[in-house]
Amino acid sequence: MGTAQGQAKEPKELFLRSVEHYFDKAARYTQFRPGLLEQVKNCNSVYKMTFPVEHEDGTIEVVEAYRAQHSHHRLPTKGGIRFSTMVTMEETVALATLMTYKCAIVDVPFGGAKGGVKVSPHNMTTTFRRRLVRRLTAEMARKNFIGPEVDVPAPDYGTGEQEMAWIADTYMALNSSQMNAFGCVTGKPLSLHGIPGRTEATGLGVYYGICECLADRGTAASIGVDPGVAGKTVIIQGLGNVGYHSGKYLQELGDAKIIGVAEREGGIFNPSGFDINKLLAYRKEHGSIKNFPGCEFIEDSSQLLTYACDILIPAALENQINEENAPQIQAKIIAEAANGPTTAGAEAILARKNCLIIPDVYLNAGGVTVSYFEWLKNIFHVSFDRMTSRLQSINNQRMIEAIEAHTTKPFDPEFVKGLSNGAREIDFVQSALADTMTRAYQNIFQCWKSSSLPDLRTAAFYFAINRVGRSYETMGIFP
Ligand code: NAD
Repeated sequence: MGTAQGQAKEPKELFLRSVEHYFDKAARYTQFRPGLLEQVKNCNSVYKMTFPVEHEDGTIEVVEAYRAQHSHHRLPTKGGIRFSTMVTMEETVALATLMTYKCAIVDVPFGGAKGGVKVSPHNMTTTFRRRLVRRLTAEMARKNFIGPEVDVPAPDYGTGEQEMAWIADTYMALNSSQMNAFGCVTGKPLSLHGIPGRTEATGLGVYYGICECLADRGTAASIGVDPGVAGKTVIIQGLGNVGYHSGKYLQELGDAKIIGVAEREGGIFNPSGFDINKLLAYRKEHGSIKNFPGCEFIEDSSQLLTYACDILIPAALENQINEENAPQIQAKIIAEAANGPTTAGAEAILARKNCLIIPDVYLNAGGVTVSYFEWLKNIFHVSFDRMTSRLQSINNQRMIEAIEAHTTKPFDPEFVKGLSNGAREIDFVQSALADTMTRAYQNIFQCWKSSSLPDLRTAAFYFAINRVGRSYETMGIFP
């Protein structure tokens, strides 16, 4: 495989080198002193753990894990926990670094962090998984690497609500008198003080980000497509949380056409499109997407990345679009739902092909945005709709009555029913997410255009470096 700058030796290092390359490329346009830029770039702390976990048959596995806190300029730090056999310290640091800039772009007041556990998420018993998560939480607590004011994990590749519930429970057991203990982790189930809309937040954010990008006529024209999402053909890599929800919203809210999905067992393709909800149900029933009705099956699913489409959504792992396959990529837009899917070397090739990349550091920030809302809910000890829902309903009802008093034609009763319901918590969450993704896109888009930066990723990094750098400057860290 080719390398980003001709020096990285293997994939995980390549990911960190790519992130550093994107940082350096954007940092050149800022006005900060070199030392301050070094501080913004470097990872503040990394905790490497190894600990034993017992299988049900009595054998003991020594598990390797990392927690990286990239930046303490804001606390708590925030970032998901990943289960993957490919976890390394470099990968965890690269992901934590992206989190710092991601939080800055969507104006979420956290520093970046990430956790990685070197295990396969696919073949573990529930008992082993639970023991592993509980021990991991205890290890992090031991070194003060978890806590509502310190560092707050969330789901990532290979983890979900169940793991977050075990983390919350273990932390509670260790800190039973802490009032805000449930704020130690986000992505929890609703029954454990989670928030509606967190599971689908990253995919919904991806949808909002693509919509915002394609709403601009100039941007659409520059890559030779019509504005808007409707009718666009989409290929997705990874039918997990982020990939599925990105596709679902593009299909249901955007009227886009999903024509291909690549998974570990292979890929499926139908140029006329297919229903992603039916595909997910089929995979759950059959354990594979193979033989999904009406679609061609492709043994080597990585081939699908090179098929012609308007929007390619890598939503699995990093380094998927690299110098080897970049010359064959035909997509007009790469919407980076995964973290680090495009290497720096591939990006240079794609730029020459006029392919627009909507970067991960912005596009998949919906997850951390809604995690922020969940954390706030846990700290406030009240749901977002509780104080306002009834009042809104009364005000809406009054407005309807006032309007009806001045017209001869009454409103349709169904319309009135809808208006007289106050907003639910999910409405607050999803409207605030839409607002956040839209504003953030406009911020980086303005940087891109007004500062004549070469691409959207450089603009996103430029925006983030300025935000983090300014907060270091105002803190006066260099007395
Ligand atoms: P997930 O575990 O739910 O899903 C990942 C899917 O990718 C799985 O179905 C897996 O089988 C598939 N996959 C793995 N290797 C593949 C390959 N080579 N080809 C095709 N498919 C493959 O994970 P997720 O939470 O959806 O995360 C996916 C990506 O999104 C990761 O890069 C993660 O860091 C990023 N991300 C996730 C969140 C979140 O809220 N979960 C937030 C931001 C970013």
